[in-house]
Amino acid sequence: MSSLRFQALQAISAGEEKKISGYGEKKITAIFGSNVFSGRTMREHLSDEAYKSLMNSAKSGARVERKMADQVAVGMKAWAEERGVTHFTHWFQPLTGTTAEKHDSFFTIKSDGTAIELFDGDALIQQEPDASSFPNGGIRATFEARGYTAWDPSSPAFIMEAGSGKTLCIPTIFIAYNGESLDYKAPLLKSIAALDKAAVDVCHFFDKNVSKVITTLGWEQEYFVIDESLANARPDLMMCGRTLMGHAPAKGQQLEDHYFGSIPERVFAFMQDFEQESYKLGIPLRTRHNEVAPSQFECAPIFEECNIAVDHNTLLMDVMNKVAKRHKLKALLHEKPFAGVNGSGKHNNWSMATDTGINLLAPGKTPRTNLMFLTFFVNTIKAVHDYDDLLRAAIASANNDHRLGANEAPPAIISVYIGKYLTEVLDEVESRVKEKFTEQDEVILKLDIHKQIPELLMDNTDRNRTSPFAFTGNKFEFRAVGSSANCASPMVVLNTIMTETLKQFKKDVEALTEKGEKKEIAILQVLRDYITKSKRIRFEGDNYSEEWAEEAKRRGLNNFKTTPEALDAYITDKAKQVFYDNGIFSKRELEARHEIMLEEYVKRVQIEARLLGYLSTNQVLPAAINYQNTLIANIRGLKEIGLDKKSYKAQLNLAEVISNHIQQINDNVEAMLEARKKANEIADMHKRALAYCHDVKTYFDNIRYHADKLELLVDDKLWPLPKYRELLFMR
Ligand code: ADP
Ligand code: MG
Repeated sequence: MSSLRFQALQAISAGEEKKISGYGEKKITAIFGSNVFSGRTMREHLSDEAYKSLMNSAKSGARVERKMADQVAVGMKAWAEERGVTHFTHWFQPLTGTTAEKHDSFFTIKSDGTAIELFDGDALIQQEPDASSFPNGGIRATFEARGYTAWDPSSPAFIMEAGSGKTLCIPTIFIAYNGESLDYKAPLLKSIAALDKAAVDVCHFFDKNVSKVITTLGWEQEYFVIDESLANARPDLMMCGRTLMGHAPAKGQQLEDHYFGSIPERVFAFMQDFEQESYKLGIPLRTRHNEVAPSQFECAPIFEECNIAVDHNTLLMDVMNKVAKRHKLKALLHEKPFAGVNGSGKHNNWSMATDTGINLLAPGKTPRTNLMFLTFFVNTIKAVHDYDDLLRAAIASANNDHRLGANEAPPAIISVYIGKYLTEVLDEVESRVKEKFTEQDEVILKLDIHKQIPELLMDNTDRNRTSPFAFTGNKFEFRAVGSSANCASPMVVLNTIMTETLKQFKKDVEALTEKGEKKEIAILQVLRDYITKSKRIRFEGDNYSEEWAEEAKRRGLNNFKTTPEALDAYITDKAKQVFYDNGIFSKRELEARHEIMLEEYVKRVQIEARLLGYLSTNQVLPAAINYQNTLIANIRGLKEIGLDKKSYKAQLNLAEVISNHIQQINDNVEAMLEARKKANEIADMHKRALAYCHDVKTYFDNIRYHADKLELLVDDKLWPLPKYRELLFMR
């Protein structure tokens, strides 16, 4: 029997008929949001009263009353049933990193035996999934393993289609019986509310009409697409989402001919298909293109309110995985599926907007709005400066370690890029605003800043693609987020540290105005102070360079290269304080989360170590020995017919080299197993994670090195694992 690898290669060459649906005559607007219970749909299916109540709580975060919830449930059910929905589920985002669903049917039998379809306010508002096996970091002991999902009216319900089945999904938060959060969404909503309040307070220095500030997020999702049957022949891709071995192909990304090139037809069909599914769900996808690496792509939506954007990103990842199957493709969302080839990230474009329609990170047109812009701009830089370790922790994962801190961008050092113009503006504020402010210095307000900032919008080419946190004209772009991550983690941190910084800013300004300083002047003075204090976090050069690592060290900036070390930032006193004071996490929640993330790290490395052991022992070594036997038979034969040693020197040499690699792999796999056993005995999760990081993972490269050498030596026909050139270039 030929190996899975060759079966897959044959299937691809045969080019089985692929269904390409495309958009046909349809406009996107014709399907956009058709599976979402929002806007018009709500209007049509809800009473005036219920509609207003729902809209109000979506806006203010206030609870929907039970009576209203009943009405909403009835309307939702009617809408869903019209579309052939039979089941509903509370949809949530537990800390496992994927979304969770537990389907219930509308179908029920009443006490008198009548069978009816029912969905009421109770079912809408709260559910108790049997969720004792979701990670909880010790928050729930098994005897109290109750976790609840609670309806989040700020995110609209939607219908998920899978084959011919349709399910009504209710976005929810997931909390323990005592209210402690067990998911990504609960802290996210809290952080959005906290930032709203702090930002509104600061806006009032400039504009009393502002009554709400929303956080905006526009993510850009990178991913790889490969043939599914090839992926199925790679146990490492199947179980870990990345290749643990595989020699670099003769041609990689050095020609850069893939970047922004034309999209391969089979992938294009997949894209159109998942785009259509996404449009139905109201995900406003806007762009698609090839990325730098072969078989790597990107898509991005129009930005939305942060919590909706987070839901939409997790939904999209789910949809991509499902739709890829239809096309016999596999979407790889892992941060680093292939060594030696660029990894994947998820840029998080972040800003804040007022209910008066102002983007707080967009330079304004008048001196006064510019001062407001400068305020939020400088406060962001200060927040990143003060809590860079938390931002680093927020993007730490076993997967992302292959990008951050490895020989790839962005680096693990957090820094902020703002561009030439804004650097000049900040320099000017810093040098011209004196300790004691004179009326004359108001010139800055009236002239210079006003004149300089708008230029930025005209010339937006001044970009630095190597920066992990870059200002891009009207938003900050956090680029170090991993492609498979839930955006909520970095958003929670960013919103929280911004909240804290703005609160402090308000106090600092008021301290001066209470002493009789004029408001604008007080603001400029505090800004000048913040600019000076946060200066070392700003870096305009090449973030990938050696020199920056050295320079950052001189500046005293953090550089946590691995996840177990980076995660420590979550449990410092400073972190506990900032999360607690702003109502995001209690100390216990934070410690639980820290524990969960460490455990997740351990599990991932553990699974990889197992897989690497399996691949080595059960696939690589047998293939090598097999080939070696052929060589030996050949040598014997040549000897038998009387040739002298000279004539089979090459074969002898090859047999010996192969033996050496076999030996090395064998020894390293055994040592890795020992290291794993030792690590597993460590009770303390932090120490165990460090052991996995420094004692177990160290064998990975070594084993891989010898396996990759064997790949180059062993007869291609005998090699069981699809090779990089096949994975990356065949579709
Ligand atoms: P890039 O050059 O990095 O690919 P794009 O111009 O394609 O950047 O925009 C990236 C993302 O930024 C898009 O998803 C876009 O919607 C988002 N974006 C634009 N303005 C804002 C904003 N005010 N807040 C949040 N995201 C925004
Ligand atoms: Mg970008």
